[in-house]
Amino acid sequence: MSTDVEKLQAQLDNFIQIAKNNERKQINFQQYELSLLNCSDLFELLTLILEQHKEKFQLTEVTLLLHDPEYEFQRLIDSRTTPPPWRKKLLFQQNLQFINQYFTILRKPRLSEFSLHQHQHLFLDNDTLRSVALLPLVRHNKLIGSLNLGSRKADRFQANIGTQFLQHLAAVVSACIENTRLHEHIKQVGLRDPLTGVNNRRFFDQRVEEEVKRAQRNKTPLSCLFIDLDHFKRINDNHGHQAGDAVLKQTAHILDDTIRANDVLARYGGEEFVCLLADTTGDDAKELADRVREKVANTVFQISPSVSLNITMSVGLATLDETTNVYSSSQLIHAADQAVYVAKVSGRNRVHKAN
Ligand code: GH3
Ligand code: MG
Ligand code: MG
Repeated sequence: MSTDVEKLQAQLDNFIQIAKNNERKQINFQQYELSLLNCSDLFELLTLILEQHKEKFQLTEVTLLLHDPEYEFQRLIDSRTTPPPWRKKLLFQQNLQFINQYFTILRKPRLSEFSLHQHQHLFLDNDTLRSVALLPLVRHNKLIGSLNLGSRKADRFQANIGTQFLQHLAAVVSACIENTRLHEHIKQVGLRDPLTGVNNRRFFDQRVEEEVKRAQRNKTPLSCLFIDLDHFKRINDNHGHQAGDAVLKQTAHILDDTIRANDVLARYGGEEFVCLLADTTGDDAKELADRVREKVANTVFQISPSVSLNITMSVGLATLDETTNVYSSSQLIHAADQAVYVAKVSGRNRVHKAN
C-alpha cells in the first residue's frame, strides 16, 4: 500500500517538475520575446537574435539568412567601420529561390538531423551540429529569410516534434526585422539627397558639430570645402532642367569617388556641395580640392547622344586648427562660404584658401 502511494507521489513529483520546467521555459521565452519587441535598432535586434538567442535556448549555432535583392541590408551592415562580432552568422541572398528550396509550400519550420550536403550554406561553423531547425521568416505572405537553429544534440530537433512554439518565434522575429529595417530605412532617407544619393544638408549640419568637437578634443586639423558649380544656371537655360539634374548627379559621383572613405560629402543646396576632411591640414585639403576641381573640369558630361558639355567649379577652403581663428562650426562654414565668393570673383574654376 505504502509503495503504491510512494509511486504515485513520485509520479506527481515528476509531473510537477515537468510543469515547472515548462513554466520556466515559457517565462524565458516571454522575456526574450519582449526584448525583441522592444528593440527599435536593427543592430541591437541582430545582436539579440544572433548572440543572446543561442545562450538563452542553449543552442550550438544560430544563423540568419535574409533575402536582400538590392543589397540594402548588406550595405547597412557593412557601412560600420568595425564589423559586428556576429557578422559571419548573418547571410544574405539575392535569389529568393535559394531560400525557398529549404521550405515546402506551407512554409512550416523544418526540423531534421544535420546534413552537410543540405545545410552547409546555412551553417558555416557546423563541425559539431547534429540536428537543426530552419524557420521560414514570412511577412505579408512573402518569404523574407530564414532563422536557422543548430544543436549538437541529435534529439533536439526531430521531425515529429511540435513546431507551434517555433512558428510563433519565427513570426515575432520576422515582424521585428521588418520593423527595424523600415526604421533604419526612414532614418537613412531623411539624411540623404534624393537626386544625387549623397548626404543632405541635415546630415551635414549634424556631422559638422561632431567633427568640430572631435577635432578640438584630439587637437587635429579639420578642413571644410565649399563647392559651387560655375554658371550652372546656363546649363538649365541652354539644355533644360533635366540636363542640369544629370550634371549634378554626375558631379556628386565624381566628388564621392575622389574623396577618401572617411571624408563627409553632402549636397548643401541647389548646385552647392560641401566636404568635411577630418584630420586634414589646409595644405593637404588644398591639394585634394585642386584634384577634384581638375577632375570635374576635365570630364565630358554626356547628357544625351547629341549633347555633351563641360563644367567647372569654384571651391572655398577653410581649416580649423591652432593656427586659424576658427573655433566653431559656424565660423568654419562662414569662412569656407566667404572663400567661395573670393574664388568666384577671382575668375572661377579655382580653389581659394580662407586662412
Ligand atoms: P555662379 O558661377 O556665380 O555660381 O553662377 P550660377 O549660375 O551657378 O549660380 P546661380 O546661383 O545664379 O544659379 C544656380 C542655379 O542652380 C539656379 C537654379 O535654378 C539651379 N538649381 C538649383 N538646384 C537645382 C536642381 O536641383 N536641379 C537643377 N537642374 N538646377 C538647380
Ligand atoms: Mg550657388
Ligand atoms: Mg553656382
